Amino acid sequence: MTSHTLRNVVIVGGGTAGWMTAAALAKFLPPQQYHIQLVESDAIGTVGVGEATVPHIRFFNQVLGIDENDFMQKTNATYKLGIEFSHWGKRGDRYIHPFGIYGQARNDISFHHYWLKLQQSGDPHPIGDYSVGVVAAYAEKFAYPHRDAHSLFSKYSYAFHLDASLYASFLRDYSTTRGVTRVEGKIIRVEQHPDSGFIRAVELDSGAQLAGDLFIDCSGFRGLLISDTLKTDFEEWSHWLPCDRAIAVPSSKTSEPLPYTKAIACTAGWQWRIPLQNRTGNGQVYSSHHISDDEVAHNLLHNLDGEPLANLHYLRFKAGRRVQSWNKNCVAIGLSSGFLEPLESTSIYLIQIAIMTLVECFPDAAMEETNRHEFNRTMANEYERIRDFLILHYHATQRDDSAFWNDCRTMNIPESLHYKIQLFREQGHVERYKQGMFLEPSWVAVYMGQGIIPTTYHPAVNALDIQHLRDYFHSLRNTIATGVNAMPSHTNSIQRYCNNP
Ligand code: FAD
Repeated sequence: MTSHTLRNVVIVGGGTAGWMTAAALAKFLPPQQYHIQLVESDAIGTVGVGEATVPHIRFFNQVLGIDENDFMQKTNATYKLGIEFSHWGKRGDRYIHPFGIYGQARNDISFHHYWLKLQQSGDPHPIGDYSVGVVAAYAEKFAYPHRDAHSLFSKYSYAFHLDASLYASFLRDYSTTRGVTRVEGKIIRVEQHPDSGFIRAVELDSGAQLAGDLFIDCSGFRGLLISDTLKTDFEEWSHWLPCDRAIAVPSSKTSEPLPYTKAIACTAGWQWRIPLQNRTGNGQVYSSHHISDDEVAHNLLHNLDGEPLANLHYLRFKAGRRVQSWNKNCVAIGLSSGFLEPLESTSIYLIQIAIMTLVECFPDAAMEETNRHEFNRTMANEYERIRDFLILHYHATQRDDSAFWNDCRTMNIPESLHYKIQLFREQGHVERYKQGMFLEPSWVAVYMGQGIIPTTYHPAVNALDIQHLRDYFHSLRNTIATGVNAMPSHTNSIQRYCNNP
């Protein structure tokens, strides 16, 4: 340890964000060098929602050395091949946004360009017919993707539906057995250095003080350190993402769990249905300017599959992010750093990215500006890209059956999204980036699923004879149908891999 090494790390909050952070720091930081403490308050509890994930969580678990089957068993998890969006583009529509690509790219040209050419020649098959993930999801099948990168069956991916509070407990055991100290208590005061404003210590209701060099604010919507103490600005996006409330309720299981999440558009928001092994997670996300809490509560209970297993849980939020997630010696991770509604299950992903970026930019005692700058730049990019993707779901609608949908359809959108939509509409191209959330196939899924169909396609596609293309697409559909048919059912896969009765 050098004199420049920072030693005491204090994590404030023991929800999903707090325990994911603790687990990763316990794994990646040398234990003889760092002392990691996590404070959580049983009296305050956690936000208690957050059940759908994206495939990146698998890589997080893998780097921690967590056995996937053990994790699934302990969190009541099911497999997730994508999200089905119903009634978004128009009432009666539905499409799945799968994890993975459509078909197979040929000559470095994305598959959807070939599909567009066929469509223009009258072929009726939706693009989802060329996604193993979509076909398997609707057949309620699940098998692990093939390892052979040339196989069509290696081109899809999967995530999980899980009980996030069980995941936090699972990671709590993981962290505490690897040297993280858990402290129970409510923080009632935060002490700052008088000159720099850096945080020096937090004081608990027991009178105990926890001093630290680096504080990680995982205190949820409250933002105890990043907001209450450091007064970090919040950039609000509710003019683009107007939903500001949710009501959640778990219900009893009535059928075998589906391998996909349902996101059903409603009059002034949308309803989720998330199948776990033992129950279903349900909730509605809505705009309080367009519908009352009572009406949403009534609709939610009316549309519930199964019996409610708890009282309705009312939540309030606003879309946006902290302008600096890392401010002075405090890094906000999780809901304290910002909120984007759960339409594409991105919150746990954002936690993971923040953790991995923090590990990469981990500071020493000097708290160099470069680390902070890089962390904030990365998080700003991630938030803004996801923000645009979520706005697309609301804006790309033809619905005119309520004030909410009229407002979404006609609202001004960010310039960055406007450009993306124009590029796709006019040329069929998706803005290219190779890392981060929502690569080309995701944008294609939502554009096409909600009726934004390009007027043209990549000109190089014309080099292929139309009959050749038809034959090729026909054989792709057959290969997918035969392969999916041979997959075990989703339920059998859960039983087989998780050893659950
Ligand atoms: P919390 O779970 O709220 O934890 C905060 C912690 O801070 C708690 O331990 C609390 O006790 C502690 N704390 C607070 N104040 C004090 C204090 N004074 N002293 C001591 N301790 C304190 N994400 C997804 O990825 N997928 C989803 O499907 C999804 N669905 C969602 C649905 C809704 C309606 C909402 C609102 C969110 C959803 N999320 C989802 C987001 C997800 O819930 C959160 O990202 C995740 O739970 C992490 O929360 P957190 O740990 O930041 O905060």
